Amino acid sequence: MAEKMEALVKQGNEVVMKTYSRFPIALDHGEGMYVWDIEGKKYIDFVAGIAVNSLGYAHPTLGKVIAEQAMKLIHCSNLYYTQPQIALAQWLVEHSDFDKVFFCNSGAESIESALKIARKYAKMKAKAGNEVITMLHSFHGRTYGAVTATGQEKYHKGLEPLLPDVCHVPFNDFEALQNAVTEKTCAILLEPIQGEGGILPAEKEYLQKIRKLCDEKDILLMFDEVQCGVGRTGELFAYQSYGVVPDVATFAKGLAGGVPIGAMMAKNFVAEAFQPGDHASTFGGNSLAAAAGVAVMKELFENGLLENVKKNGVYLTEQLKKLQQKHTCITDVRGIGFMQGIELNIPTGDVINACIEKGLLLVGAGYDVIRFVPALIAEQKHIDEMIAILDDALAICEKL
Ligand SMILES: *Cc1c(COP(=O)(O)O)cnc(C)c1O
Repeated sequence: MAEKMEALVKQGNEVVMKTYSRFPIALDHGEGMYVWDIEGKKYIDFVAGIAVNSLGYAHPTLGKVIAEQAMKLIHCSNLYYTQPQIALAQWLVEHSDFDKVFFCNSGAESIESALKIARKYAKMKAKAGNEVITMLHSFHGRTYGAVTATGQEKYHKGLEPLLPDVCHVPFNDFEALQNAVTEKTCAILLEPIQGEGGILPAEKEYLQKIRKLCDEKDILLMFDEVQCGVGRTGELFAYQSYGVVPDVATFAKGLAGGVPIGAMMAKNFVAEAFQPGDHASTFGGNSLAAAAGVAVMKELFENGLLENVKKNGVYLTEQLKKLQQKHTCITDVRGIGFMQGIELNIPTGDVINACIEKGLLLVGAGYDVIRFVPALIAEQKHIDEMIAILDDALAICEKL
């Protein structure tokens, strides 16, 4: 490791809590699909801050909008109305099946908002109970409600007692879900495409059956689109790619191109369950983040970014499938748009490290999956460049 970076890594380990197992590189600046470390080494980035940097690095319009808004009004509290927040809400409502939005600052907070509105809704409707069903292998974040909803034991260890009345069932298994539903169930929460759990898309028929079940039993259907939403599937929301409309949806990651933001959207009949004082966030939807969000929306809808994801998402699938024919260590290729993964029967960590060595950033998912969640601006030439490096890295790691 180069000296400057080694010193920074050492210092970082001394003063920052050890919650992350980080790669020993320190990043400095980026441009488009590329990012440079503090020693000047260049990487092509298919992580994008884990599906966050939707417009890539140093996007001229996004940078300009943020700078201008910063000199105008960064924050003023939700005691007042602001143009950027209402403009972003308008974009989201107009391009979805939802009527209203609540803004917060992260994915986990958007999940907390969904869990709270589900229970408020149950109370408002005088339902028999307020139990929530979520999926095994899901990931919903790290606050207490969100981590309880997360269907992975490793994230629960040492934190008990968790939130009561939340249970987990196997994903893509309608019968298991049906058996878990009782008169006390008030909501079902799931990721249409499980991200952190290993890029596992829901089956369309499964979602259709759940929709029907929820309609019959007056259960809220809530989609966690924190990772798969905001253009990643080639539509604004992943549910639009499936044609199955939930009652509530959450999103965050890519919404403001890297400025922290989160949101929970709902149809009016659910939104009514929140009255003044029921929920709040100091920073939620502040002017700076909301202005950045509007800039992202304009790129998606007015500058062809959704089309880009649709077109190049197909190209990415084709190239990954070609790679699979060449390397038997790839046991599956799955996902949609710019949210795809390859499953490997060799250690993913070795492959990711070999890629970093060669100037490509990738991130794992689950135990045996490498995921591809690049900026939505990725073009064919970037995909080709990534595939060439991955090809070399797989060839090396297969022999280990
Ligand atoms: C990342 C993620 C979260 C948590 O988001 P944070 O901003 O880290 O709190 C929740 N749900 C899904 C599907 C995610 O991918």
